[in-house]
Amino acid sequence: MSTKSFPLDSQKLRALADRFPTPFYLYDEAAIRKNARAVLKAFSVFPSFKEHFAVKALPNPFVLKILADEGFGADCASLPELMLADAAGMKGEAVMLTSNETPAREYVAAKAQGAVINLDDITHIDFLETAAGIPGLISCRYNPGPLKEGNAIIGKPEEAKYGFTREQLIEGFVRLKAKGVTRFGIHAMVASNELNADYHIETAKILFELAVELKRKTGIRAEFVNIGGGAGIPYRPEQDDLDYGYMAKGMRAAYDSIVVPAGLDPLGLRMEWARVMTGPYGWLVTKAIHTKSIYREYIGVDASMADLMRPGMYGAYHHLTVSGKEGALATETYDVVGSLCENNDKFAVQRRLPKIAVGDLLVIHDAGAHGRAMGFNYNGKLRCGELLLRTDGSAVSIRRAETVDDYFATLDFAALENFPSSIPND
Ligand SMILES: *Cc1c(COP(=O)(O)O)cnc(C)c1O
Repeated sequence: MSTKSFPLDSQKLRALADRFPTPFYLYDEAAIRKNARAVLKAFSVFPSFKEHFAVKALPNPFVLKILADEGFGADCASLPELMLADAAGMKGEAVMLTSNETPAREYVAAKAQGAVINLDDITHIDFLETAAGIPGLISCRYNPGPLKEGNAIIGKPEEAKYGFTREQLIEGFVRLKAKGVTRFGIHAMVASNELNADYHIETAKILFELAVELKRKTGIRAEFVNIGGGAGIPYRPEQDDLDYGYMAKGMRAAYDSIVVPAGLDPLGLRMEWARVMTGPYGWLVTKAIHTKSIYREYIGVDASMADLMRPGMYGAYHHLTVSGKEGALATETYDVVGSLCENNDKFAVQRRLPKIAVGDLLVIHDAGAHGRAMGFNYNGKLRCGELLLRTDGSAVSIRRAETVDDYFATLDFAALENFPSSIPND
């Protein structure tokens, strides 16, 4: 069981919605910090540990700055993400570039920032050398293929586009060493939203064994392994949180039986968890603006799939509560829907909820990772803003809502005025 809470009572939320029109995202700084510390504490059983928050999950520099404060680095996959991490104070090797199909200019930027480049393919060794030169520290992403069972969101490793095969990885490190690399990291990310702690422990074990094999076959000693992201959160109240202590201890036991006897201690452990770092501590707040009764009962809200697309994209469950009616009986069955001209724009389908009236504020839970960031502008929908609840209880805007000017910023209407018709004369 996991509890689905929200940091503001209905009066406080109503007051906030008077200041900042709905819809908006709200993130809880105190809860993010508390959880970040719990992760660091659990993994302090390793001689060297670093968590690189994957920027894609919540690309807001204010939140990144909080995580930087707590000692976290970033995992980036694009030039703008590298810039966000830098702006938030995440510098040098605190940043990893774990990208794929990487354009040359992103390698150049990552190298200039001193970020750790994590290569996705053996052909990228020469590509990187031409684009930016080979840095002294480099990491390579391993795809274990049939060695590792699949995971629901990310799929089977052998069908995934990422990473080197085992043979390529060994060969790649030898080639990198010949090109002057002196420090090496091994990376893998094989899961997404995985709630099975043993699955993550097994990933670490596979990487520890690979580090030993690399040493045995080539003499190359890895400085760290990076188990990537993919730790799950209990979107449904009946699911349980991952136990950080259990995972850290399980990984440490694997380390003691694999890494230590091979003489590779100390070997650093890095990871790129994002969903567990901010997911449960962010909510999408939206207002009921219509009720509709046809073959089903509908509640129309002012947010849409453009603000949060996980339910529409993956059929994902997001818990939903009605502010001020948390204790009320769930007497109704609703589809809670947004305004997009797509029938999958539904935040909840046939959900048992208390009776909802127009004007009620609805709280969509576990939206703090892969939430607003996945938003889009289809149908001319403007994405909502983001608020941060500070540790002193005040709320501040950390990103304003989009305006029509933002939406039209890439269009030149003056050119349209002088745009000649080109209907052919015949
Ligand atoms: C998306 C991603 C992450 C973060 O994943 P979570 O499931 O949110 O922990 C980490 N690393 C890489 C390479 C990613 O693509």
